[in-house]
Amino acid sequence: MPDLAQPLDAVHRRIEQAARDARRDPGSVKLLAVSKTFPAEDVRAAHAAGQRAFGENYVQEALDKIEALADLRADLEWHFIGPLQSNKTRPVAEQFDWVHSVDRLKIAQRLAEQRPAHLPPLSVCLQVNVSGEATKAGVAPDEVAALAHAIAALPSLRLRGLMSIPEPAANLAAQREPHRLLRTLFEQLRADGLALDTLSMGMSGDLEAAVLEGATIVRIGTAIFGTRDYSH
Ligand SMILES: *Cc1c(COP(=O)(O)O)cnc(C)c1O
Repeated sequence: MPDLAQPLDAVHRRIEQAARDARRDPGSVKLLAVSKTFPAEDVRAAHAAGQRAFGENYVQEALDKIEALADLRADLEWHFIGPLQSNKTRPVAEQFDWVHSVDRLKIAQRLAEQRPAHLPPLSVCLQVNVSGEATKAGVAPDEVAALAHAIAALPSLRLRGLMSIPEPAANLAAQREPHRLLRTLFEQLRADGLALDTLSMGMSGDLEAAVLEGATIVRIGTAIFGTRDYSH
């Protein structure tokens, strides 16, 4: 089992420094460890170092890991953060605690129907396309309000907030722009009466920019687990 205490500690220190710079409470930023492509053993190692929330992108890979780590289930929080097809919603509704990547009403409706009654509501975020033409995933900014209100009305789901994956940008100022757009959309929804508490934004390369703009969950893979190998 690898020792992940050091990289986790380094990420926590980055979050703390950025929160200080933003005059925010570091405790208001939650670390989601993105374990996609890494084995269950690495999740176990991160858990041993104190990490509790994990993000996964691929349904089958995630289900295998959740099963391999069933002994820790009560102590882990599983977040689905990848593209979700409508024929794969059932195991996600049954096995996960959060879905960050909802960008269509149909997906939300299926998750709501398929969420088992004995579980708490599934926490969901709307994925917003903050980079315009450059990427296709996510709802367009001008469609966020209508979709958010429709999803907030569904049973068995709890709409928590917004998520984005901006295009990489070269410097801090450029990184902050799409995060600021997401935060503005988030504030508009709250002003409009939705009880949202989550801005899921910031990855290994732009964590600081995201925290400066108000991120409440940062999704960090590479800086914790290392470079991903997609060859197998
Ligand atoms: C892979 C991934 C991450 C983690 O990215 P890193 O750059 O490795 O920190 C975060 N969010 C999403 C949606 C991802 O797919």
